[in-house]
Amino acid sequence: MLIRKMAQVDVKTGLKLILSRIDEASKTRSPELQAIQPRLIAVSKLKPTNLIIEAYEEGQRHFGENYVQELEEKANSPEILERCKDIKWHFIGHLQTNKASKLLAIPNLYLVETVDSKKLAMNLNKNWPNFGPPDSKLNIMLQVNTSGEEEKEGIKPSDVCDLTKYVLEECSNLRLDGLMTIGRFGYNPEDGPNPDFICLKRCRDEICQNCGLDWKNINLSMGMSDDFEHAIQLGSTNVRVGSSIFGLRPPKINNQ
Ligand SMILES: *Cc1c(COP(=O)(O)O)cnc(C)c1O
Repeated sequence: MLIRKMAQVDVKTGLKLILSRIDEASKTRSPELQAIQPRLIAVSKLKPTNLIIEAYEEGQRHFGENYVQELEEKANSPEILERCKDIKWHFIGHLQTNKASKLLAIPNLYLVETVDSKKLAMNLNKNWPNFGPPDSKLNIMLQVNTSGEEEKEGIKPSDVCDLTKYVLEECSNLRLDGLMTIGRFGYNPEDGPNPDFICLKRCRDEICQNCGLDWKNINLSMGMSDDFEHAIQLGSTNVRVGSSIFGLRPPKINNQ
């Protein structure tokens, strides 16, 4: 039953629905946020390339993947290279420093959302000139562990300023695009504004104050299938939505 449903998932309809829900949620935000249209990242991990192409043909450009090897295979597949020339890949999984160069070599890599240490930032900064177009900068976000759960990746909220300064001052090949959080699973928005989203916004306020950045230039990547509308109301500008577009995922088998 489930397998049949997964095989028949209608990506175009799913995508249109999510885009209209993003639009609706955007209208309910406070006036100063109205100028910024949240960006949809279609999370295609564990999904086949034909569904990515379907979404691309519907106009979707930003896609998210969690595993370096899977992204490498998809981004280099002849159909994607031929039919999705303007695709923009977001890396949203945990990145080990020893896989950084492998990631940087991937065609159409647009943004690494999960930078969570100086060591990783330094490595990406050092290696980007070997892979990116001349004089370009690699877009990155800093991943923040807003929920404080031990198993979650990301830096502590109290370390965001320090890492931001490091990126701004020492990493001339990187461009800070924003802050990202995953947050606690299963939070019920009926219990009030999600503390993880509030926390990420506070981190942004803090780096803007301390490093002279304009908040409008610092994206907030927060919100997934279950809570992207709530995240948008709280200021998200980058929502990462997977299963609501591409259908449920098979359970993860190998741990990459
Ligand atoms: C898988 C994943 C998503 C998408 O989750 P859905 O619930 O399928 O929308 C978003 N962000 C990250 C970091 C993910 O790993």
